[in-house]
Amino acid sequence: MATVDLKDIKKSFGKVDVIHGVDMEIADGEFIVIVGPSGCGKSTLLRMVAGLETITSGELLIGGKRANDTEPMDRDIAMVFQNYALYPHMTVADNMAYGLKIAGMPKDQIKAKVQEAAKLLQLDHLLDRKPRELSGGQRQRVAMGRAIVREPSVFLFDEPLSNLDAKLRVQMRLEIKDLQAKLGITSLYVTHDQVEAMTMADRMIVMNGGVAEQIGTPLDVYERPQTIFAAQFIGSPS
Ligand code: ADP
Ligand code: MG
Repeated sequence: MATVDLKDIKKSFGKVDVIHGVDMEIADGEFIVIVGPSGCGKSTLLRMVAGLETITSGELLIGGKRANDTEPMDRDIAMVFQNYALYPHMTVADNMAYGLKIAGMPKDQIKAKVQEAAKLLQLDHLLDRKPRELSGGQRQRVAMGRAIVREPSVFLFDEPLSNLDAKLRVQMRLEIKDLQAKLGITSLYVTHDQVEAMTMADRMIVMNGGVAEQIGTPLDVYERPQTIFAAQFIGSPS
């Protein structure tokens, strides 16, 4: 079970309230997109789910279990960032294996997992290369591979495509969706791009100023926006 439940989640930095109480029940295998303009609190919300930011109040359940205070490593999640920070001196294979090595997995098991993920991501012919010898899309796939080998129950993505050019971005949207559908991993995906949200989401959270203005399918939000903000934001693609 990899449901993720957010119950009245709030976040303040000092006296500044940044997330004002978000409620959402995410089903096992669902692809949720958190969309909204820069500064609205998307990353903060995601980082609370990841355990990289404390939760000021409210409750977070992962797989039905309270996770507010668990360590990131104990949350059964994997995160893919915009700056995917591959280790430049390591090969693709070693980059993908790194987390498993740290976790103490036996070598032959690591090798099998890395090969399986590499095949899935069409990286099997690039395993001996260094990151600088890869294209932007290939590097992004290595970052995905590093997340996949850990076989998490939940994937967290924070604007993973924003460093790529427009054409590649469109291609990678499809690749990520395809992969997620194949693996059936519950996913939370952050973007400021309305089109990206509309094309990828099973359901989306439209955020504005730390508030979830609307939660629904792309069609729901498009045809029945519940707030003026949702209507204007979704109606004015960047
Ligand atoms: P987004 O990802 O939607 O662009 P963020 O979650 O990064 O937005 O930021 C939401 C708000 O919280 C912003 O006003 C930002 O300045 C503030 N914020 C984020 N992180 C911190 C922090 N560590 N300390 C203080 N304020 C922060
Ligand atoms: Mg952000």
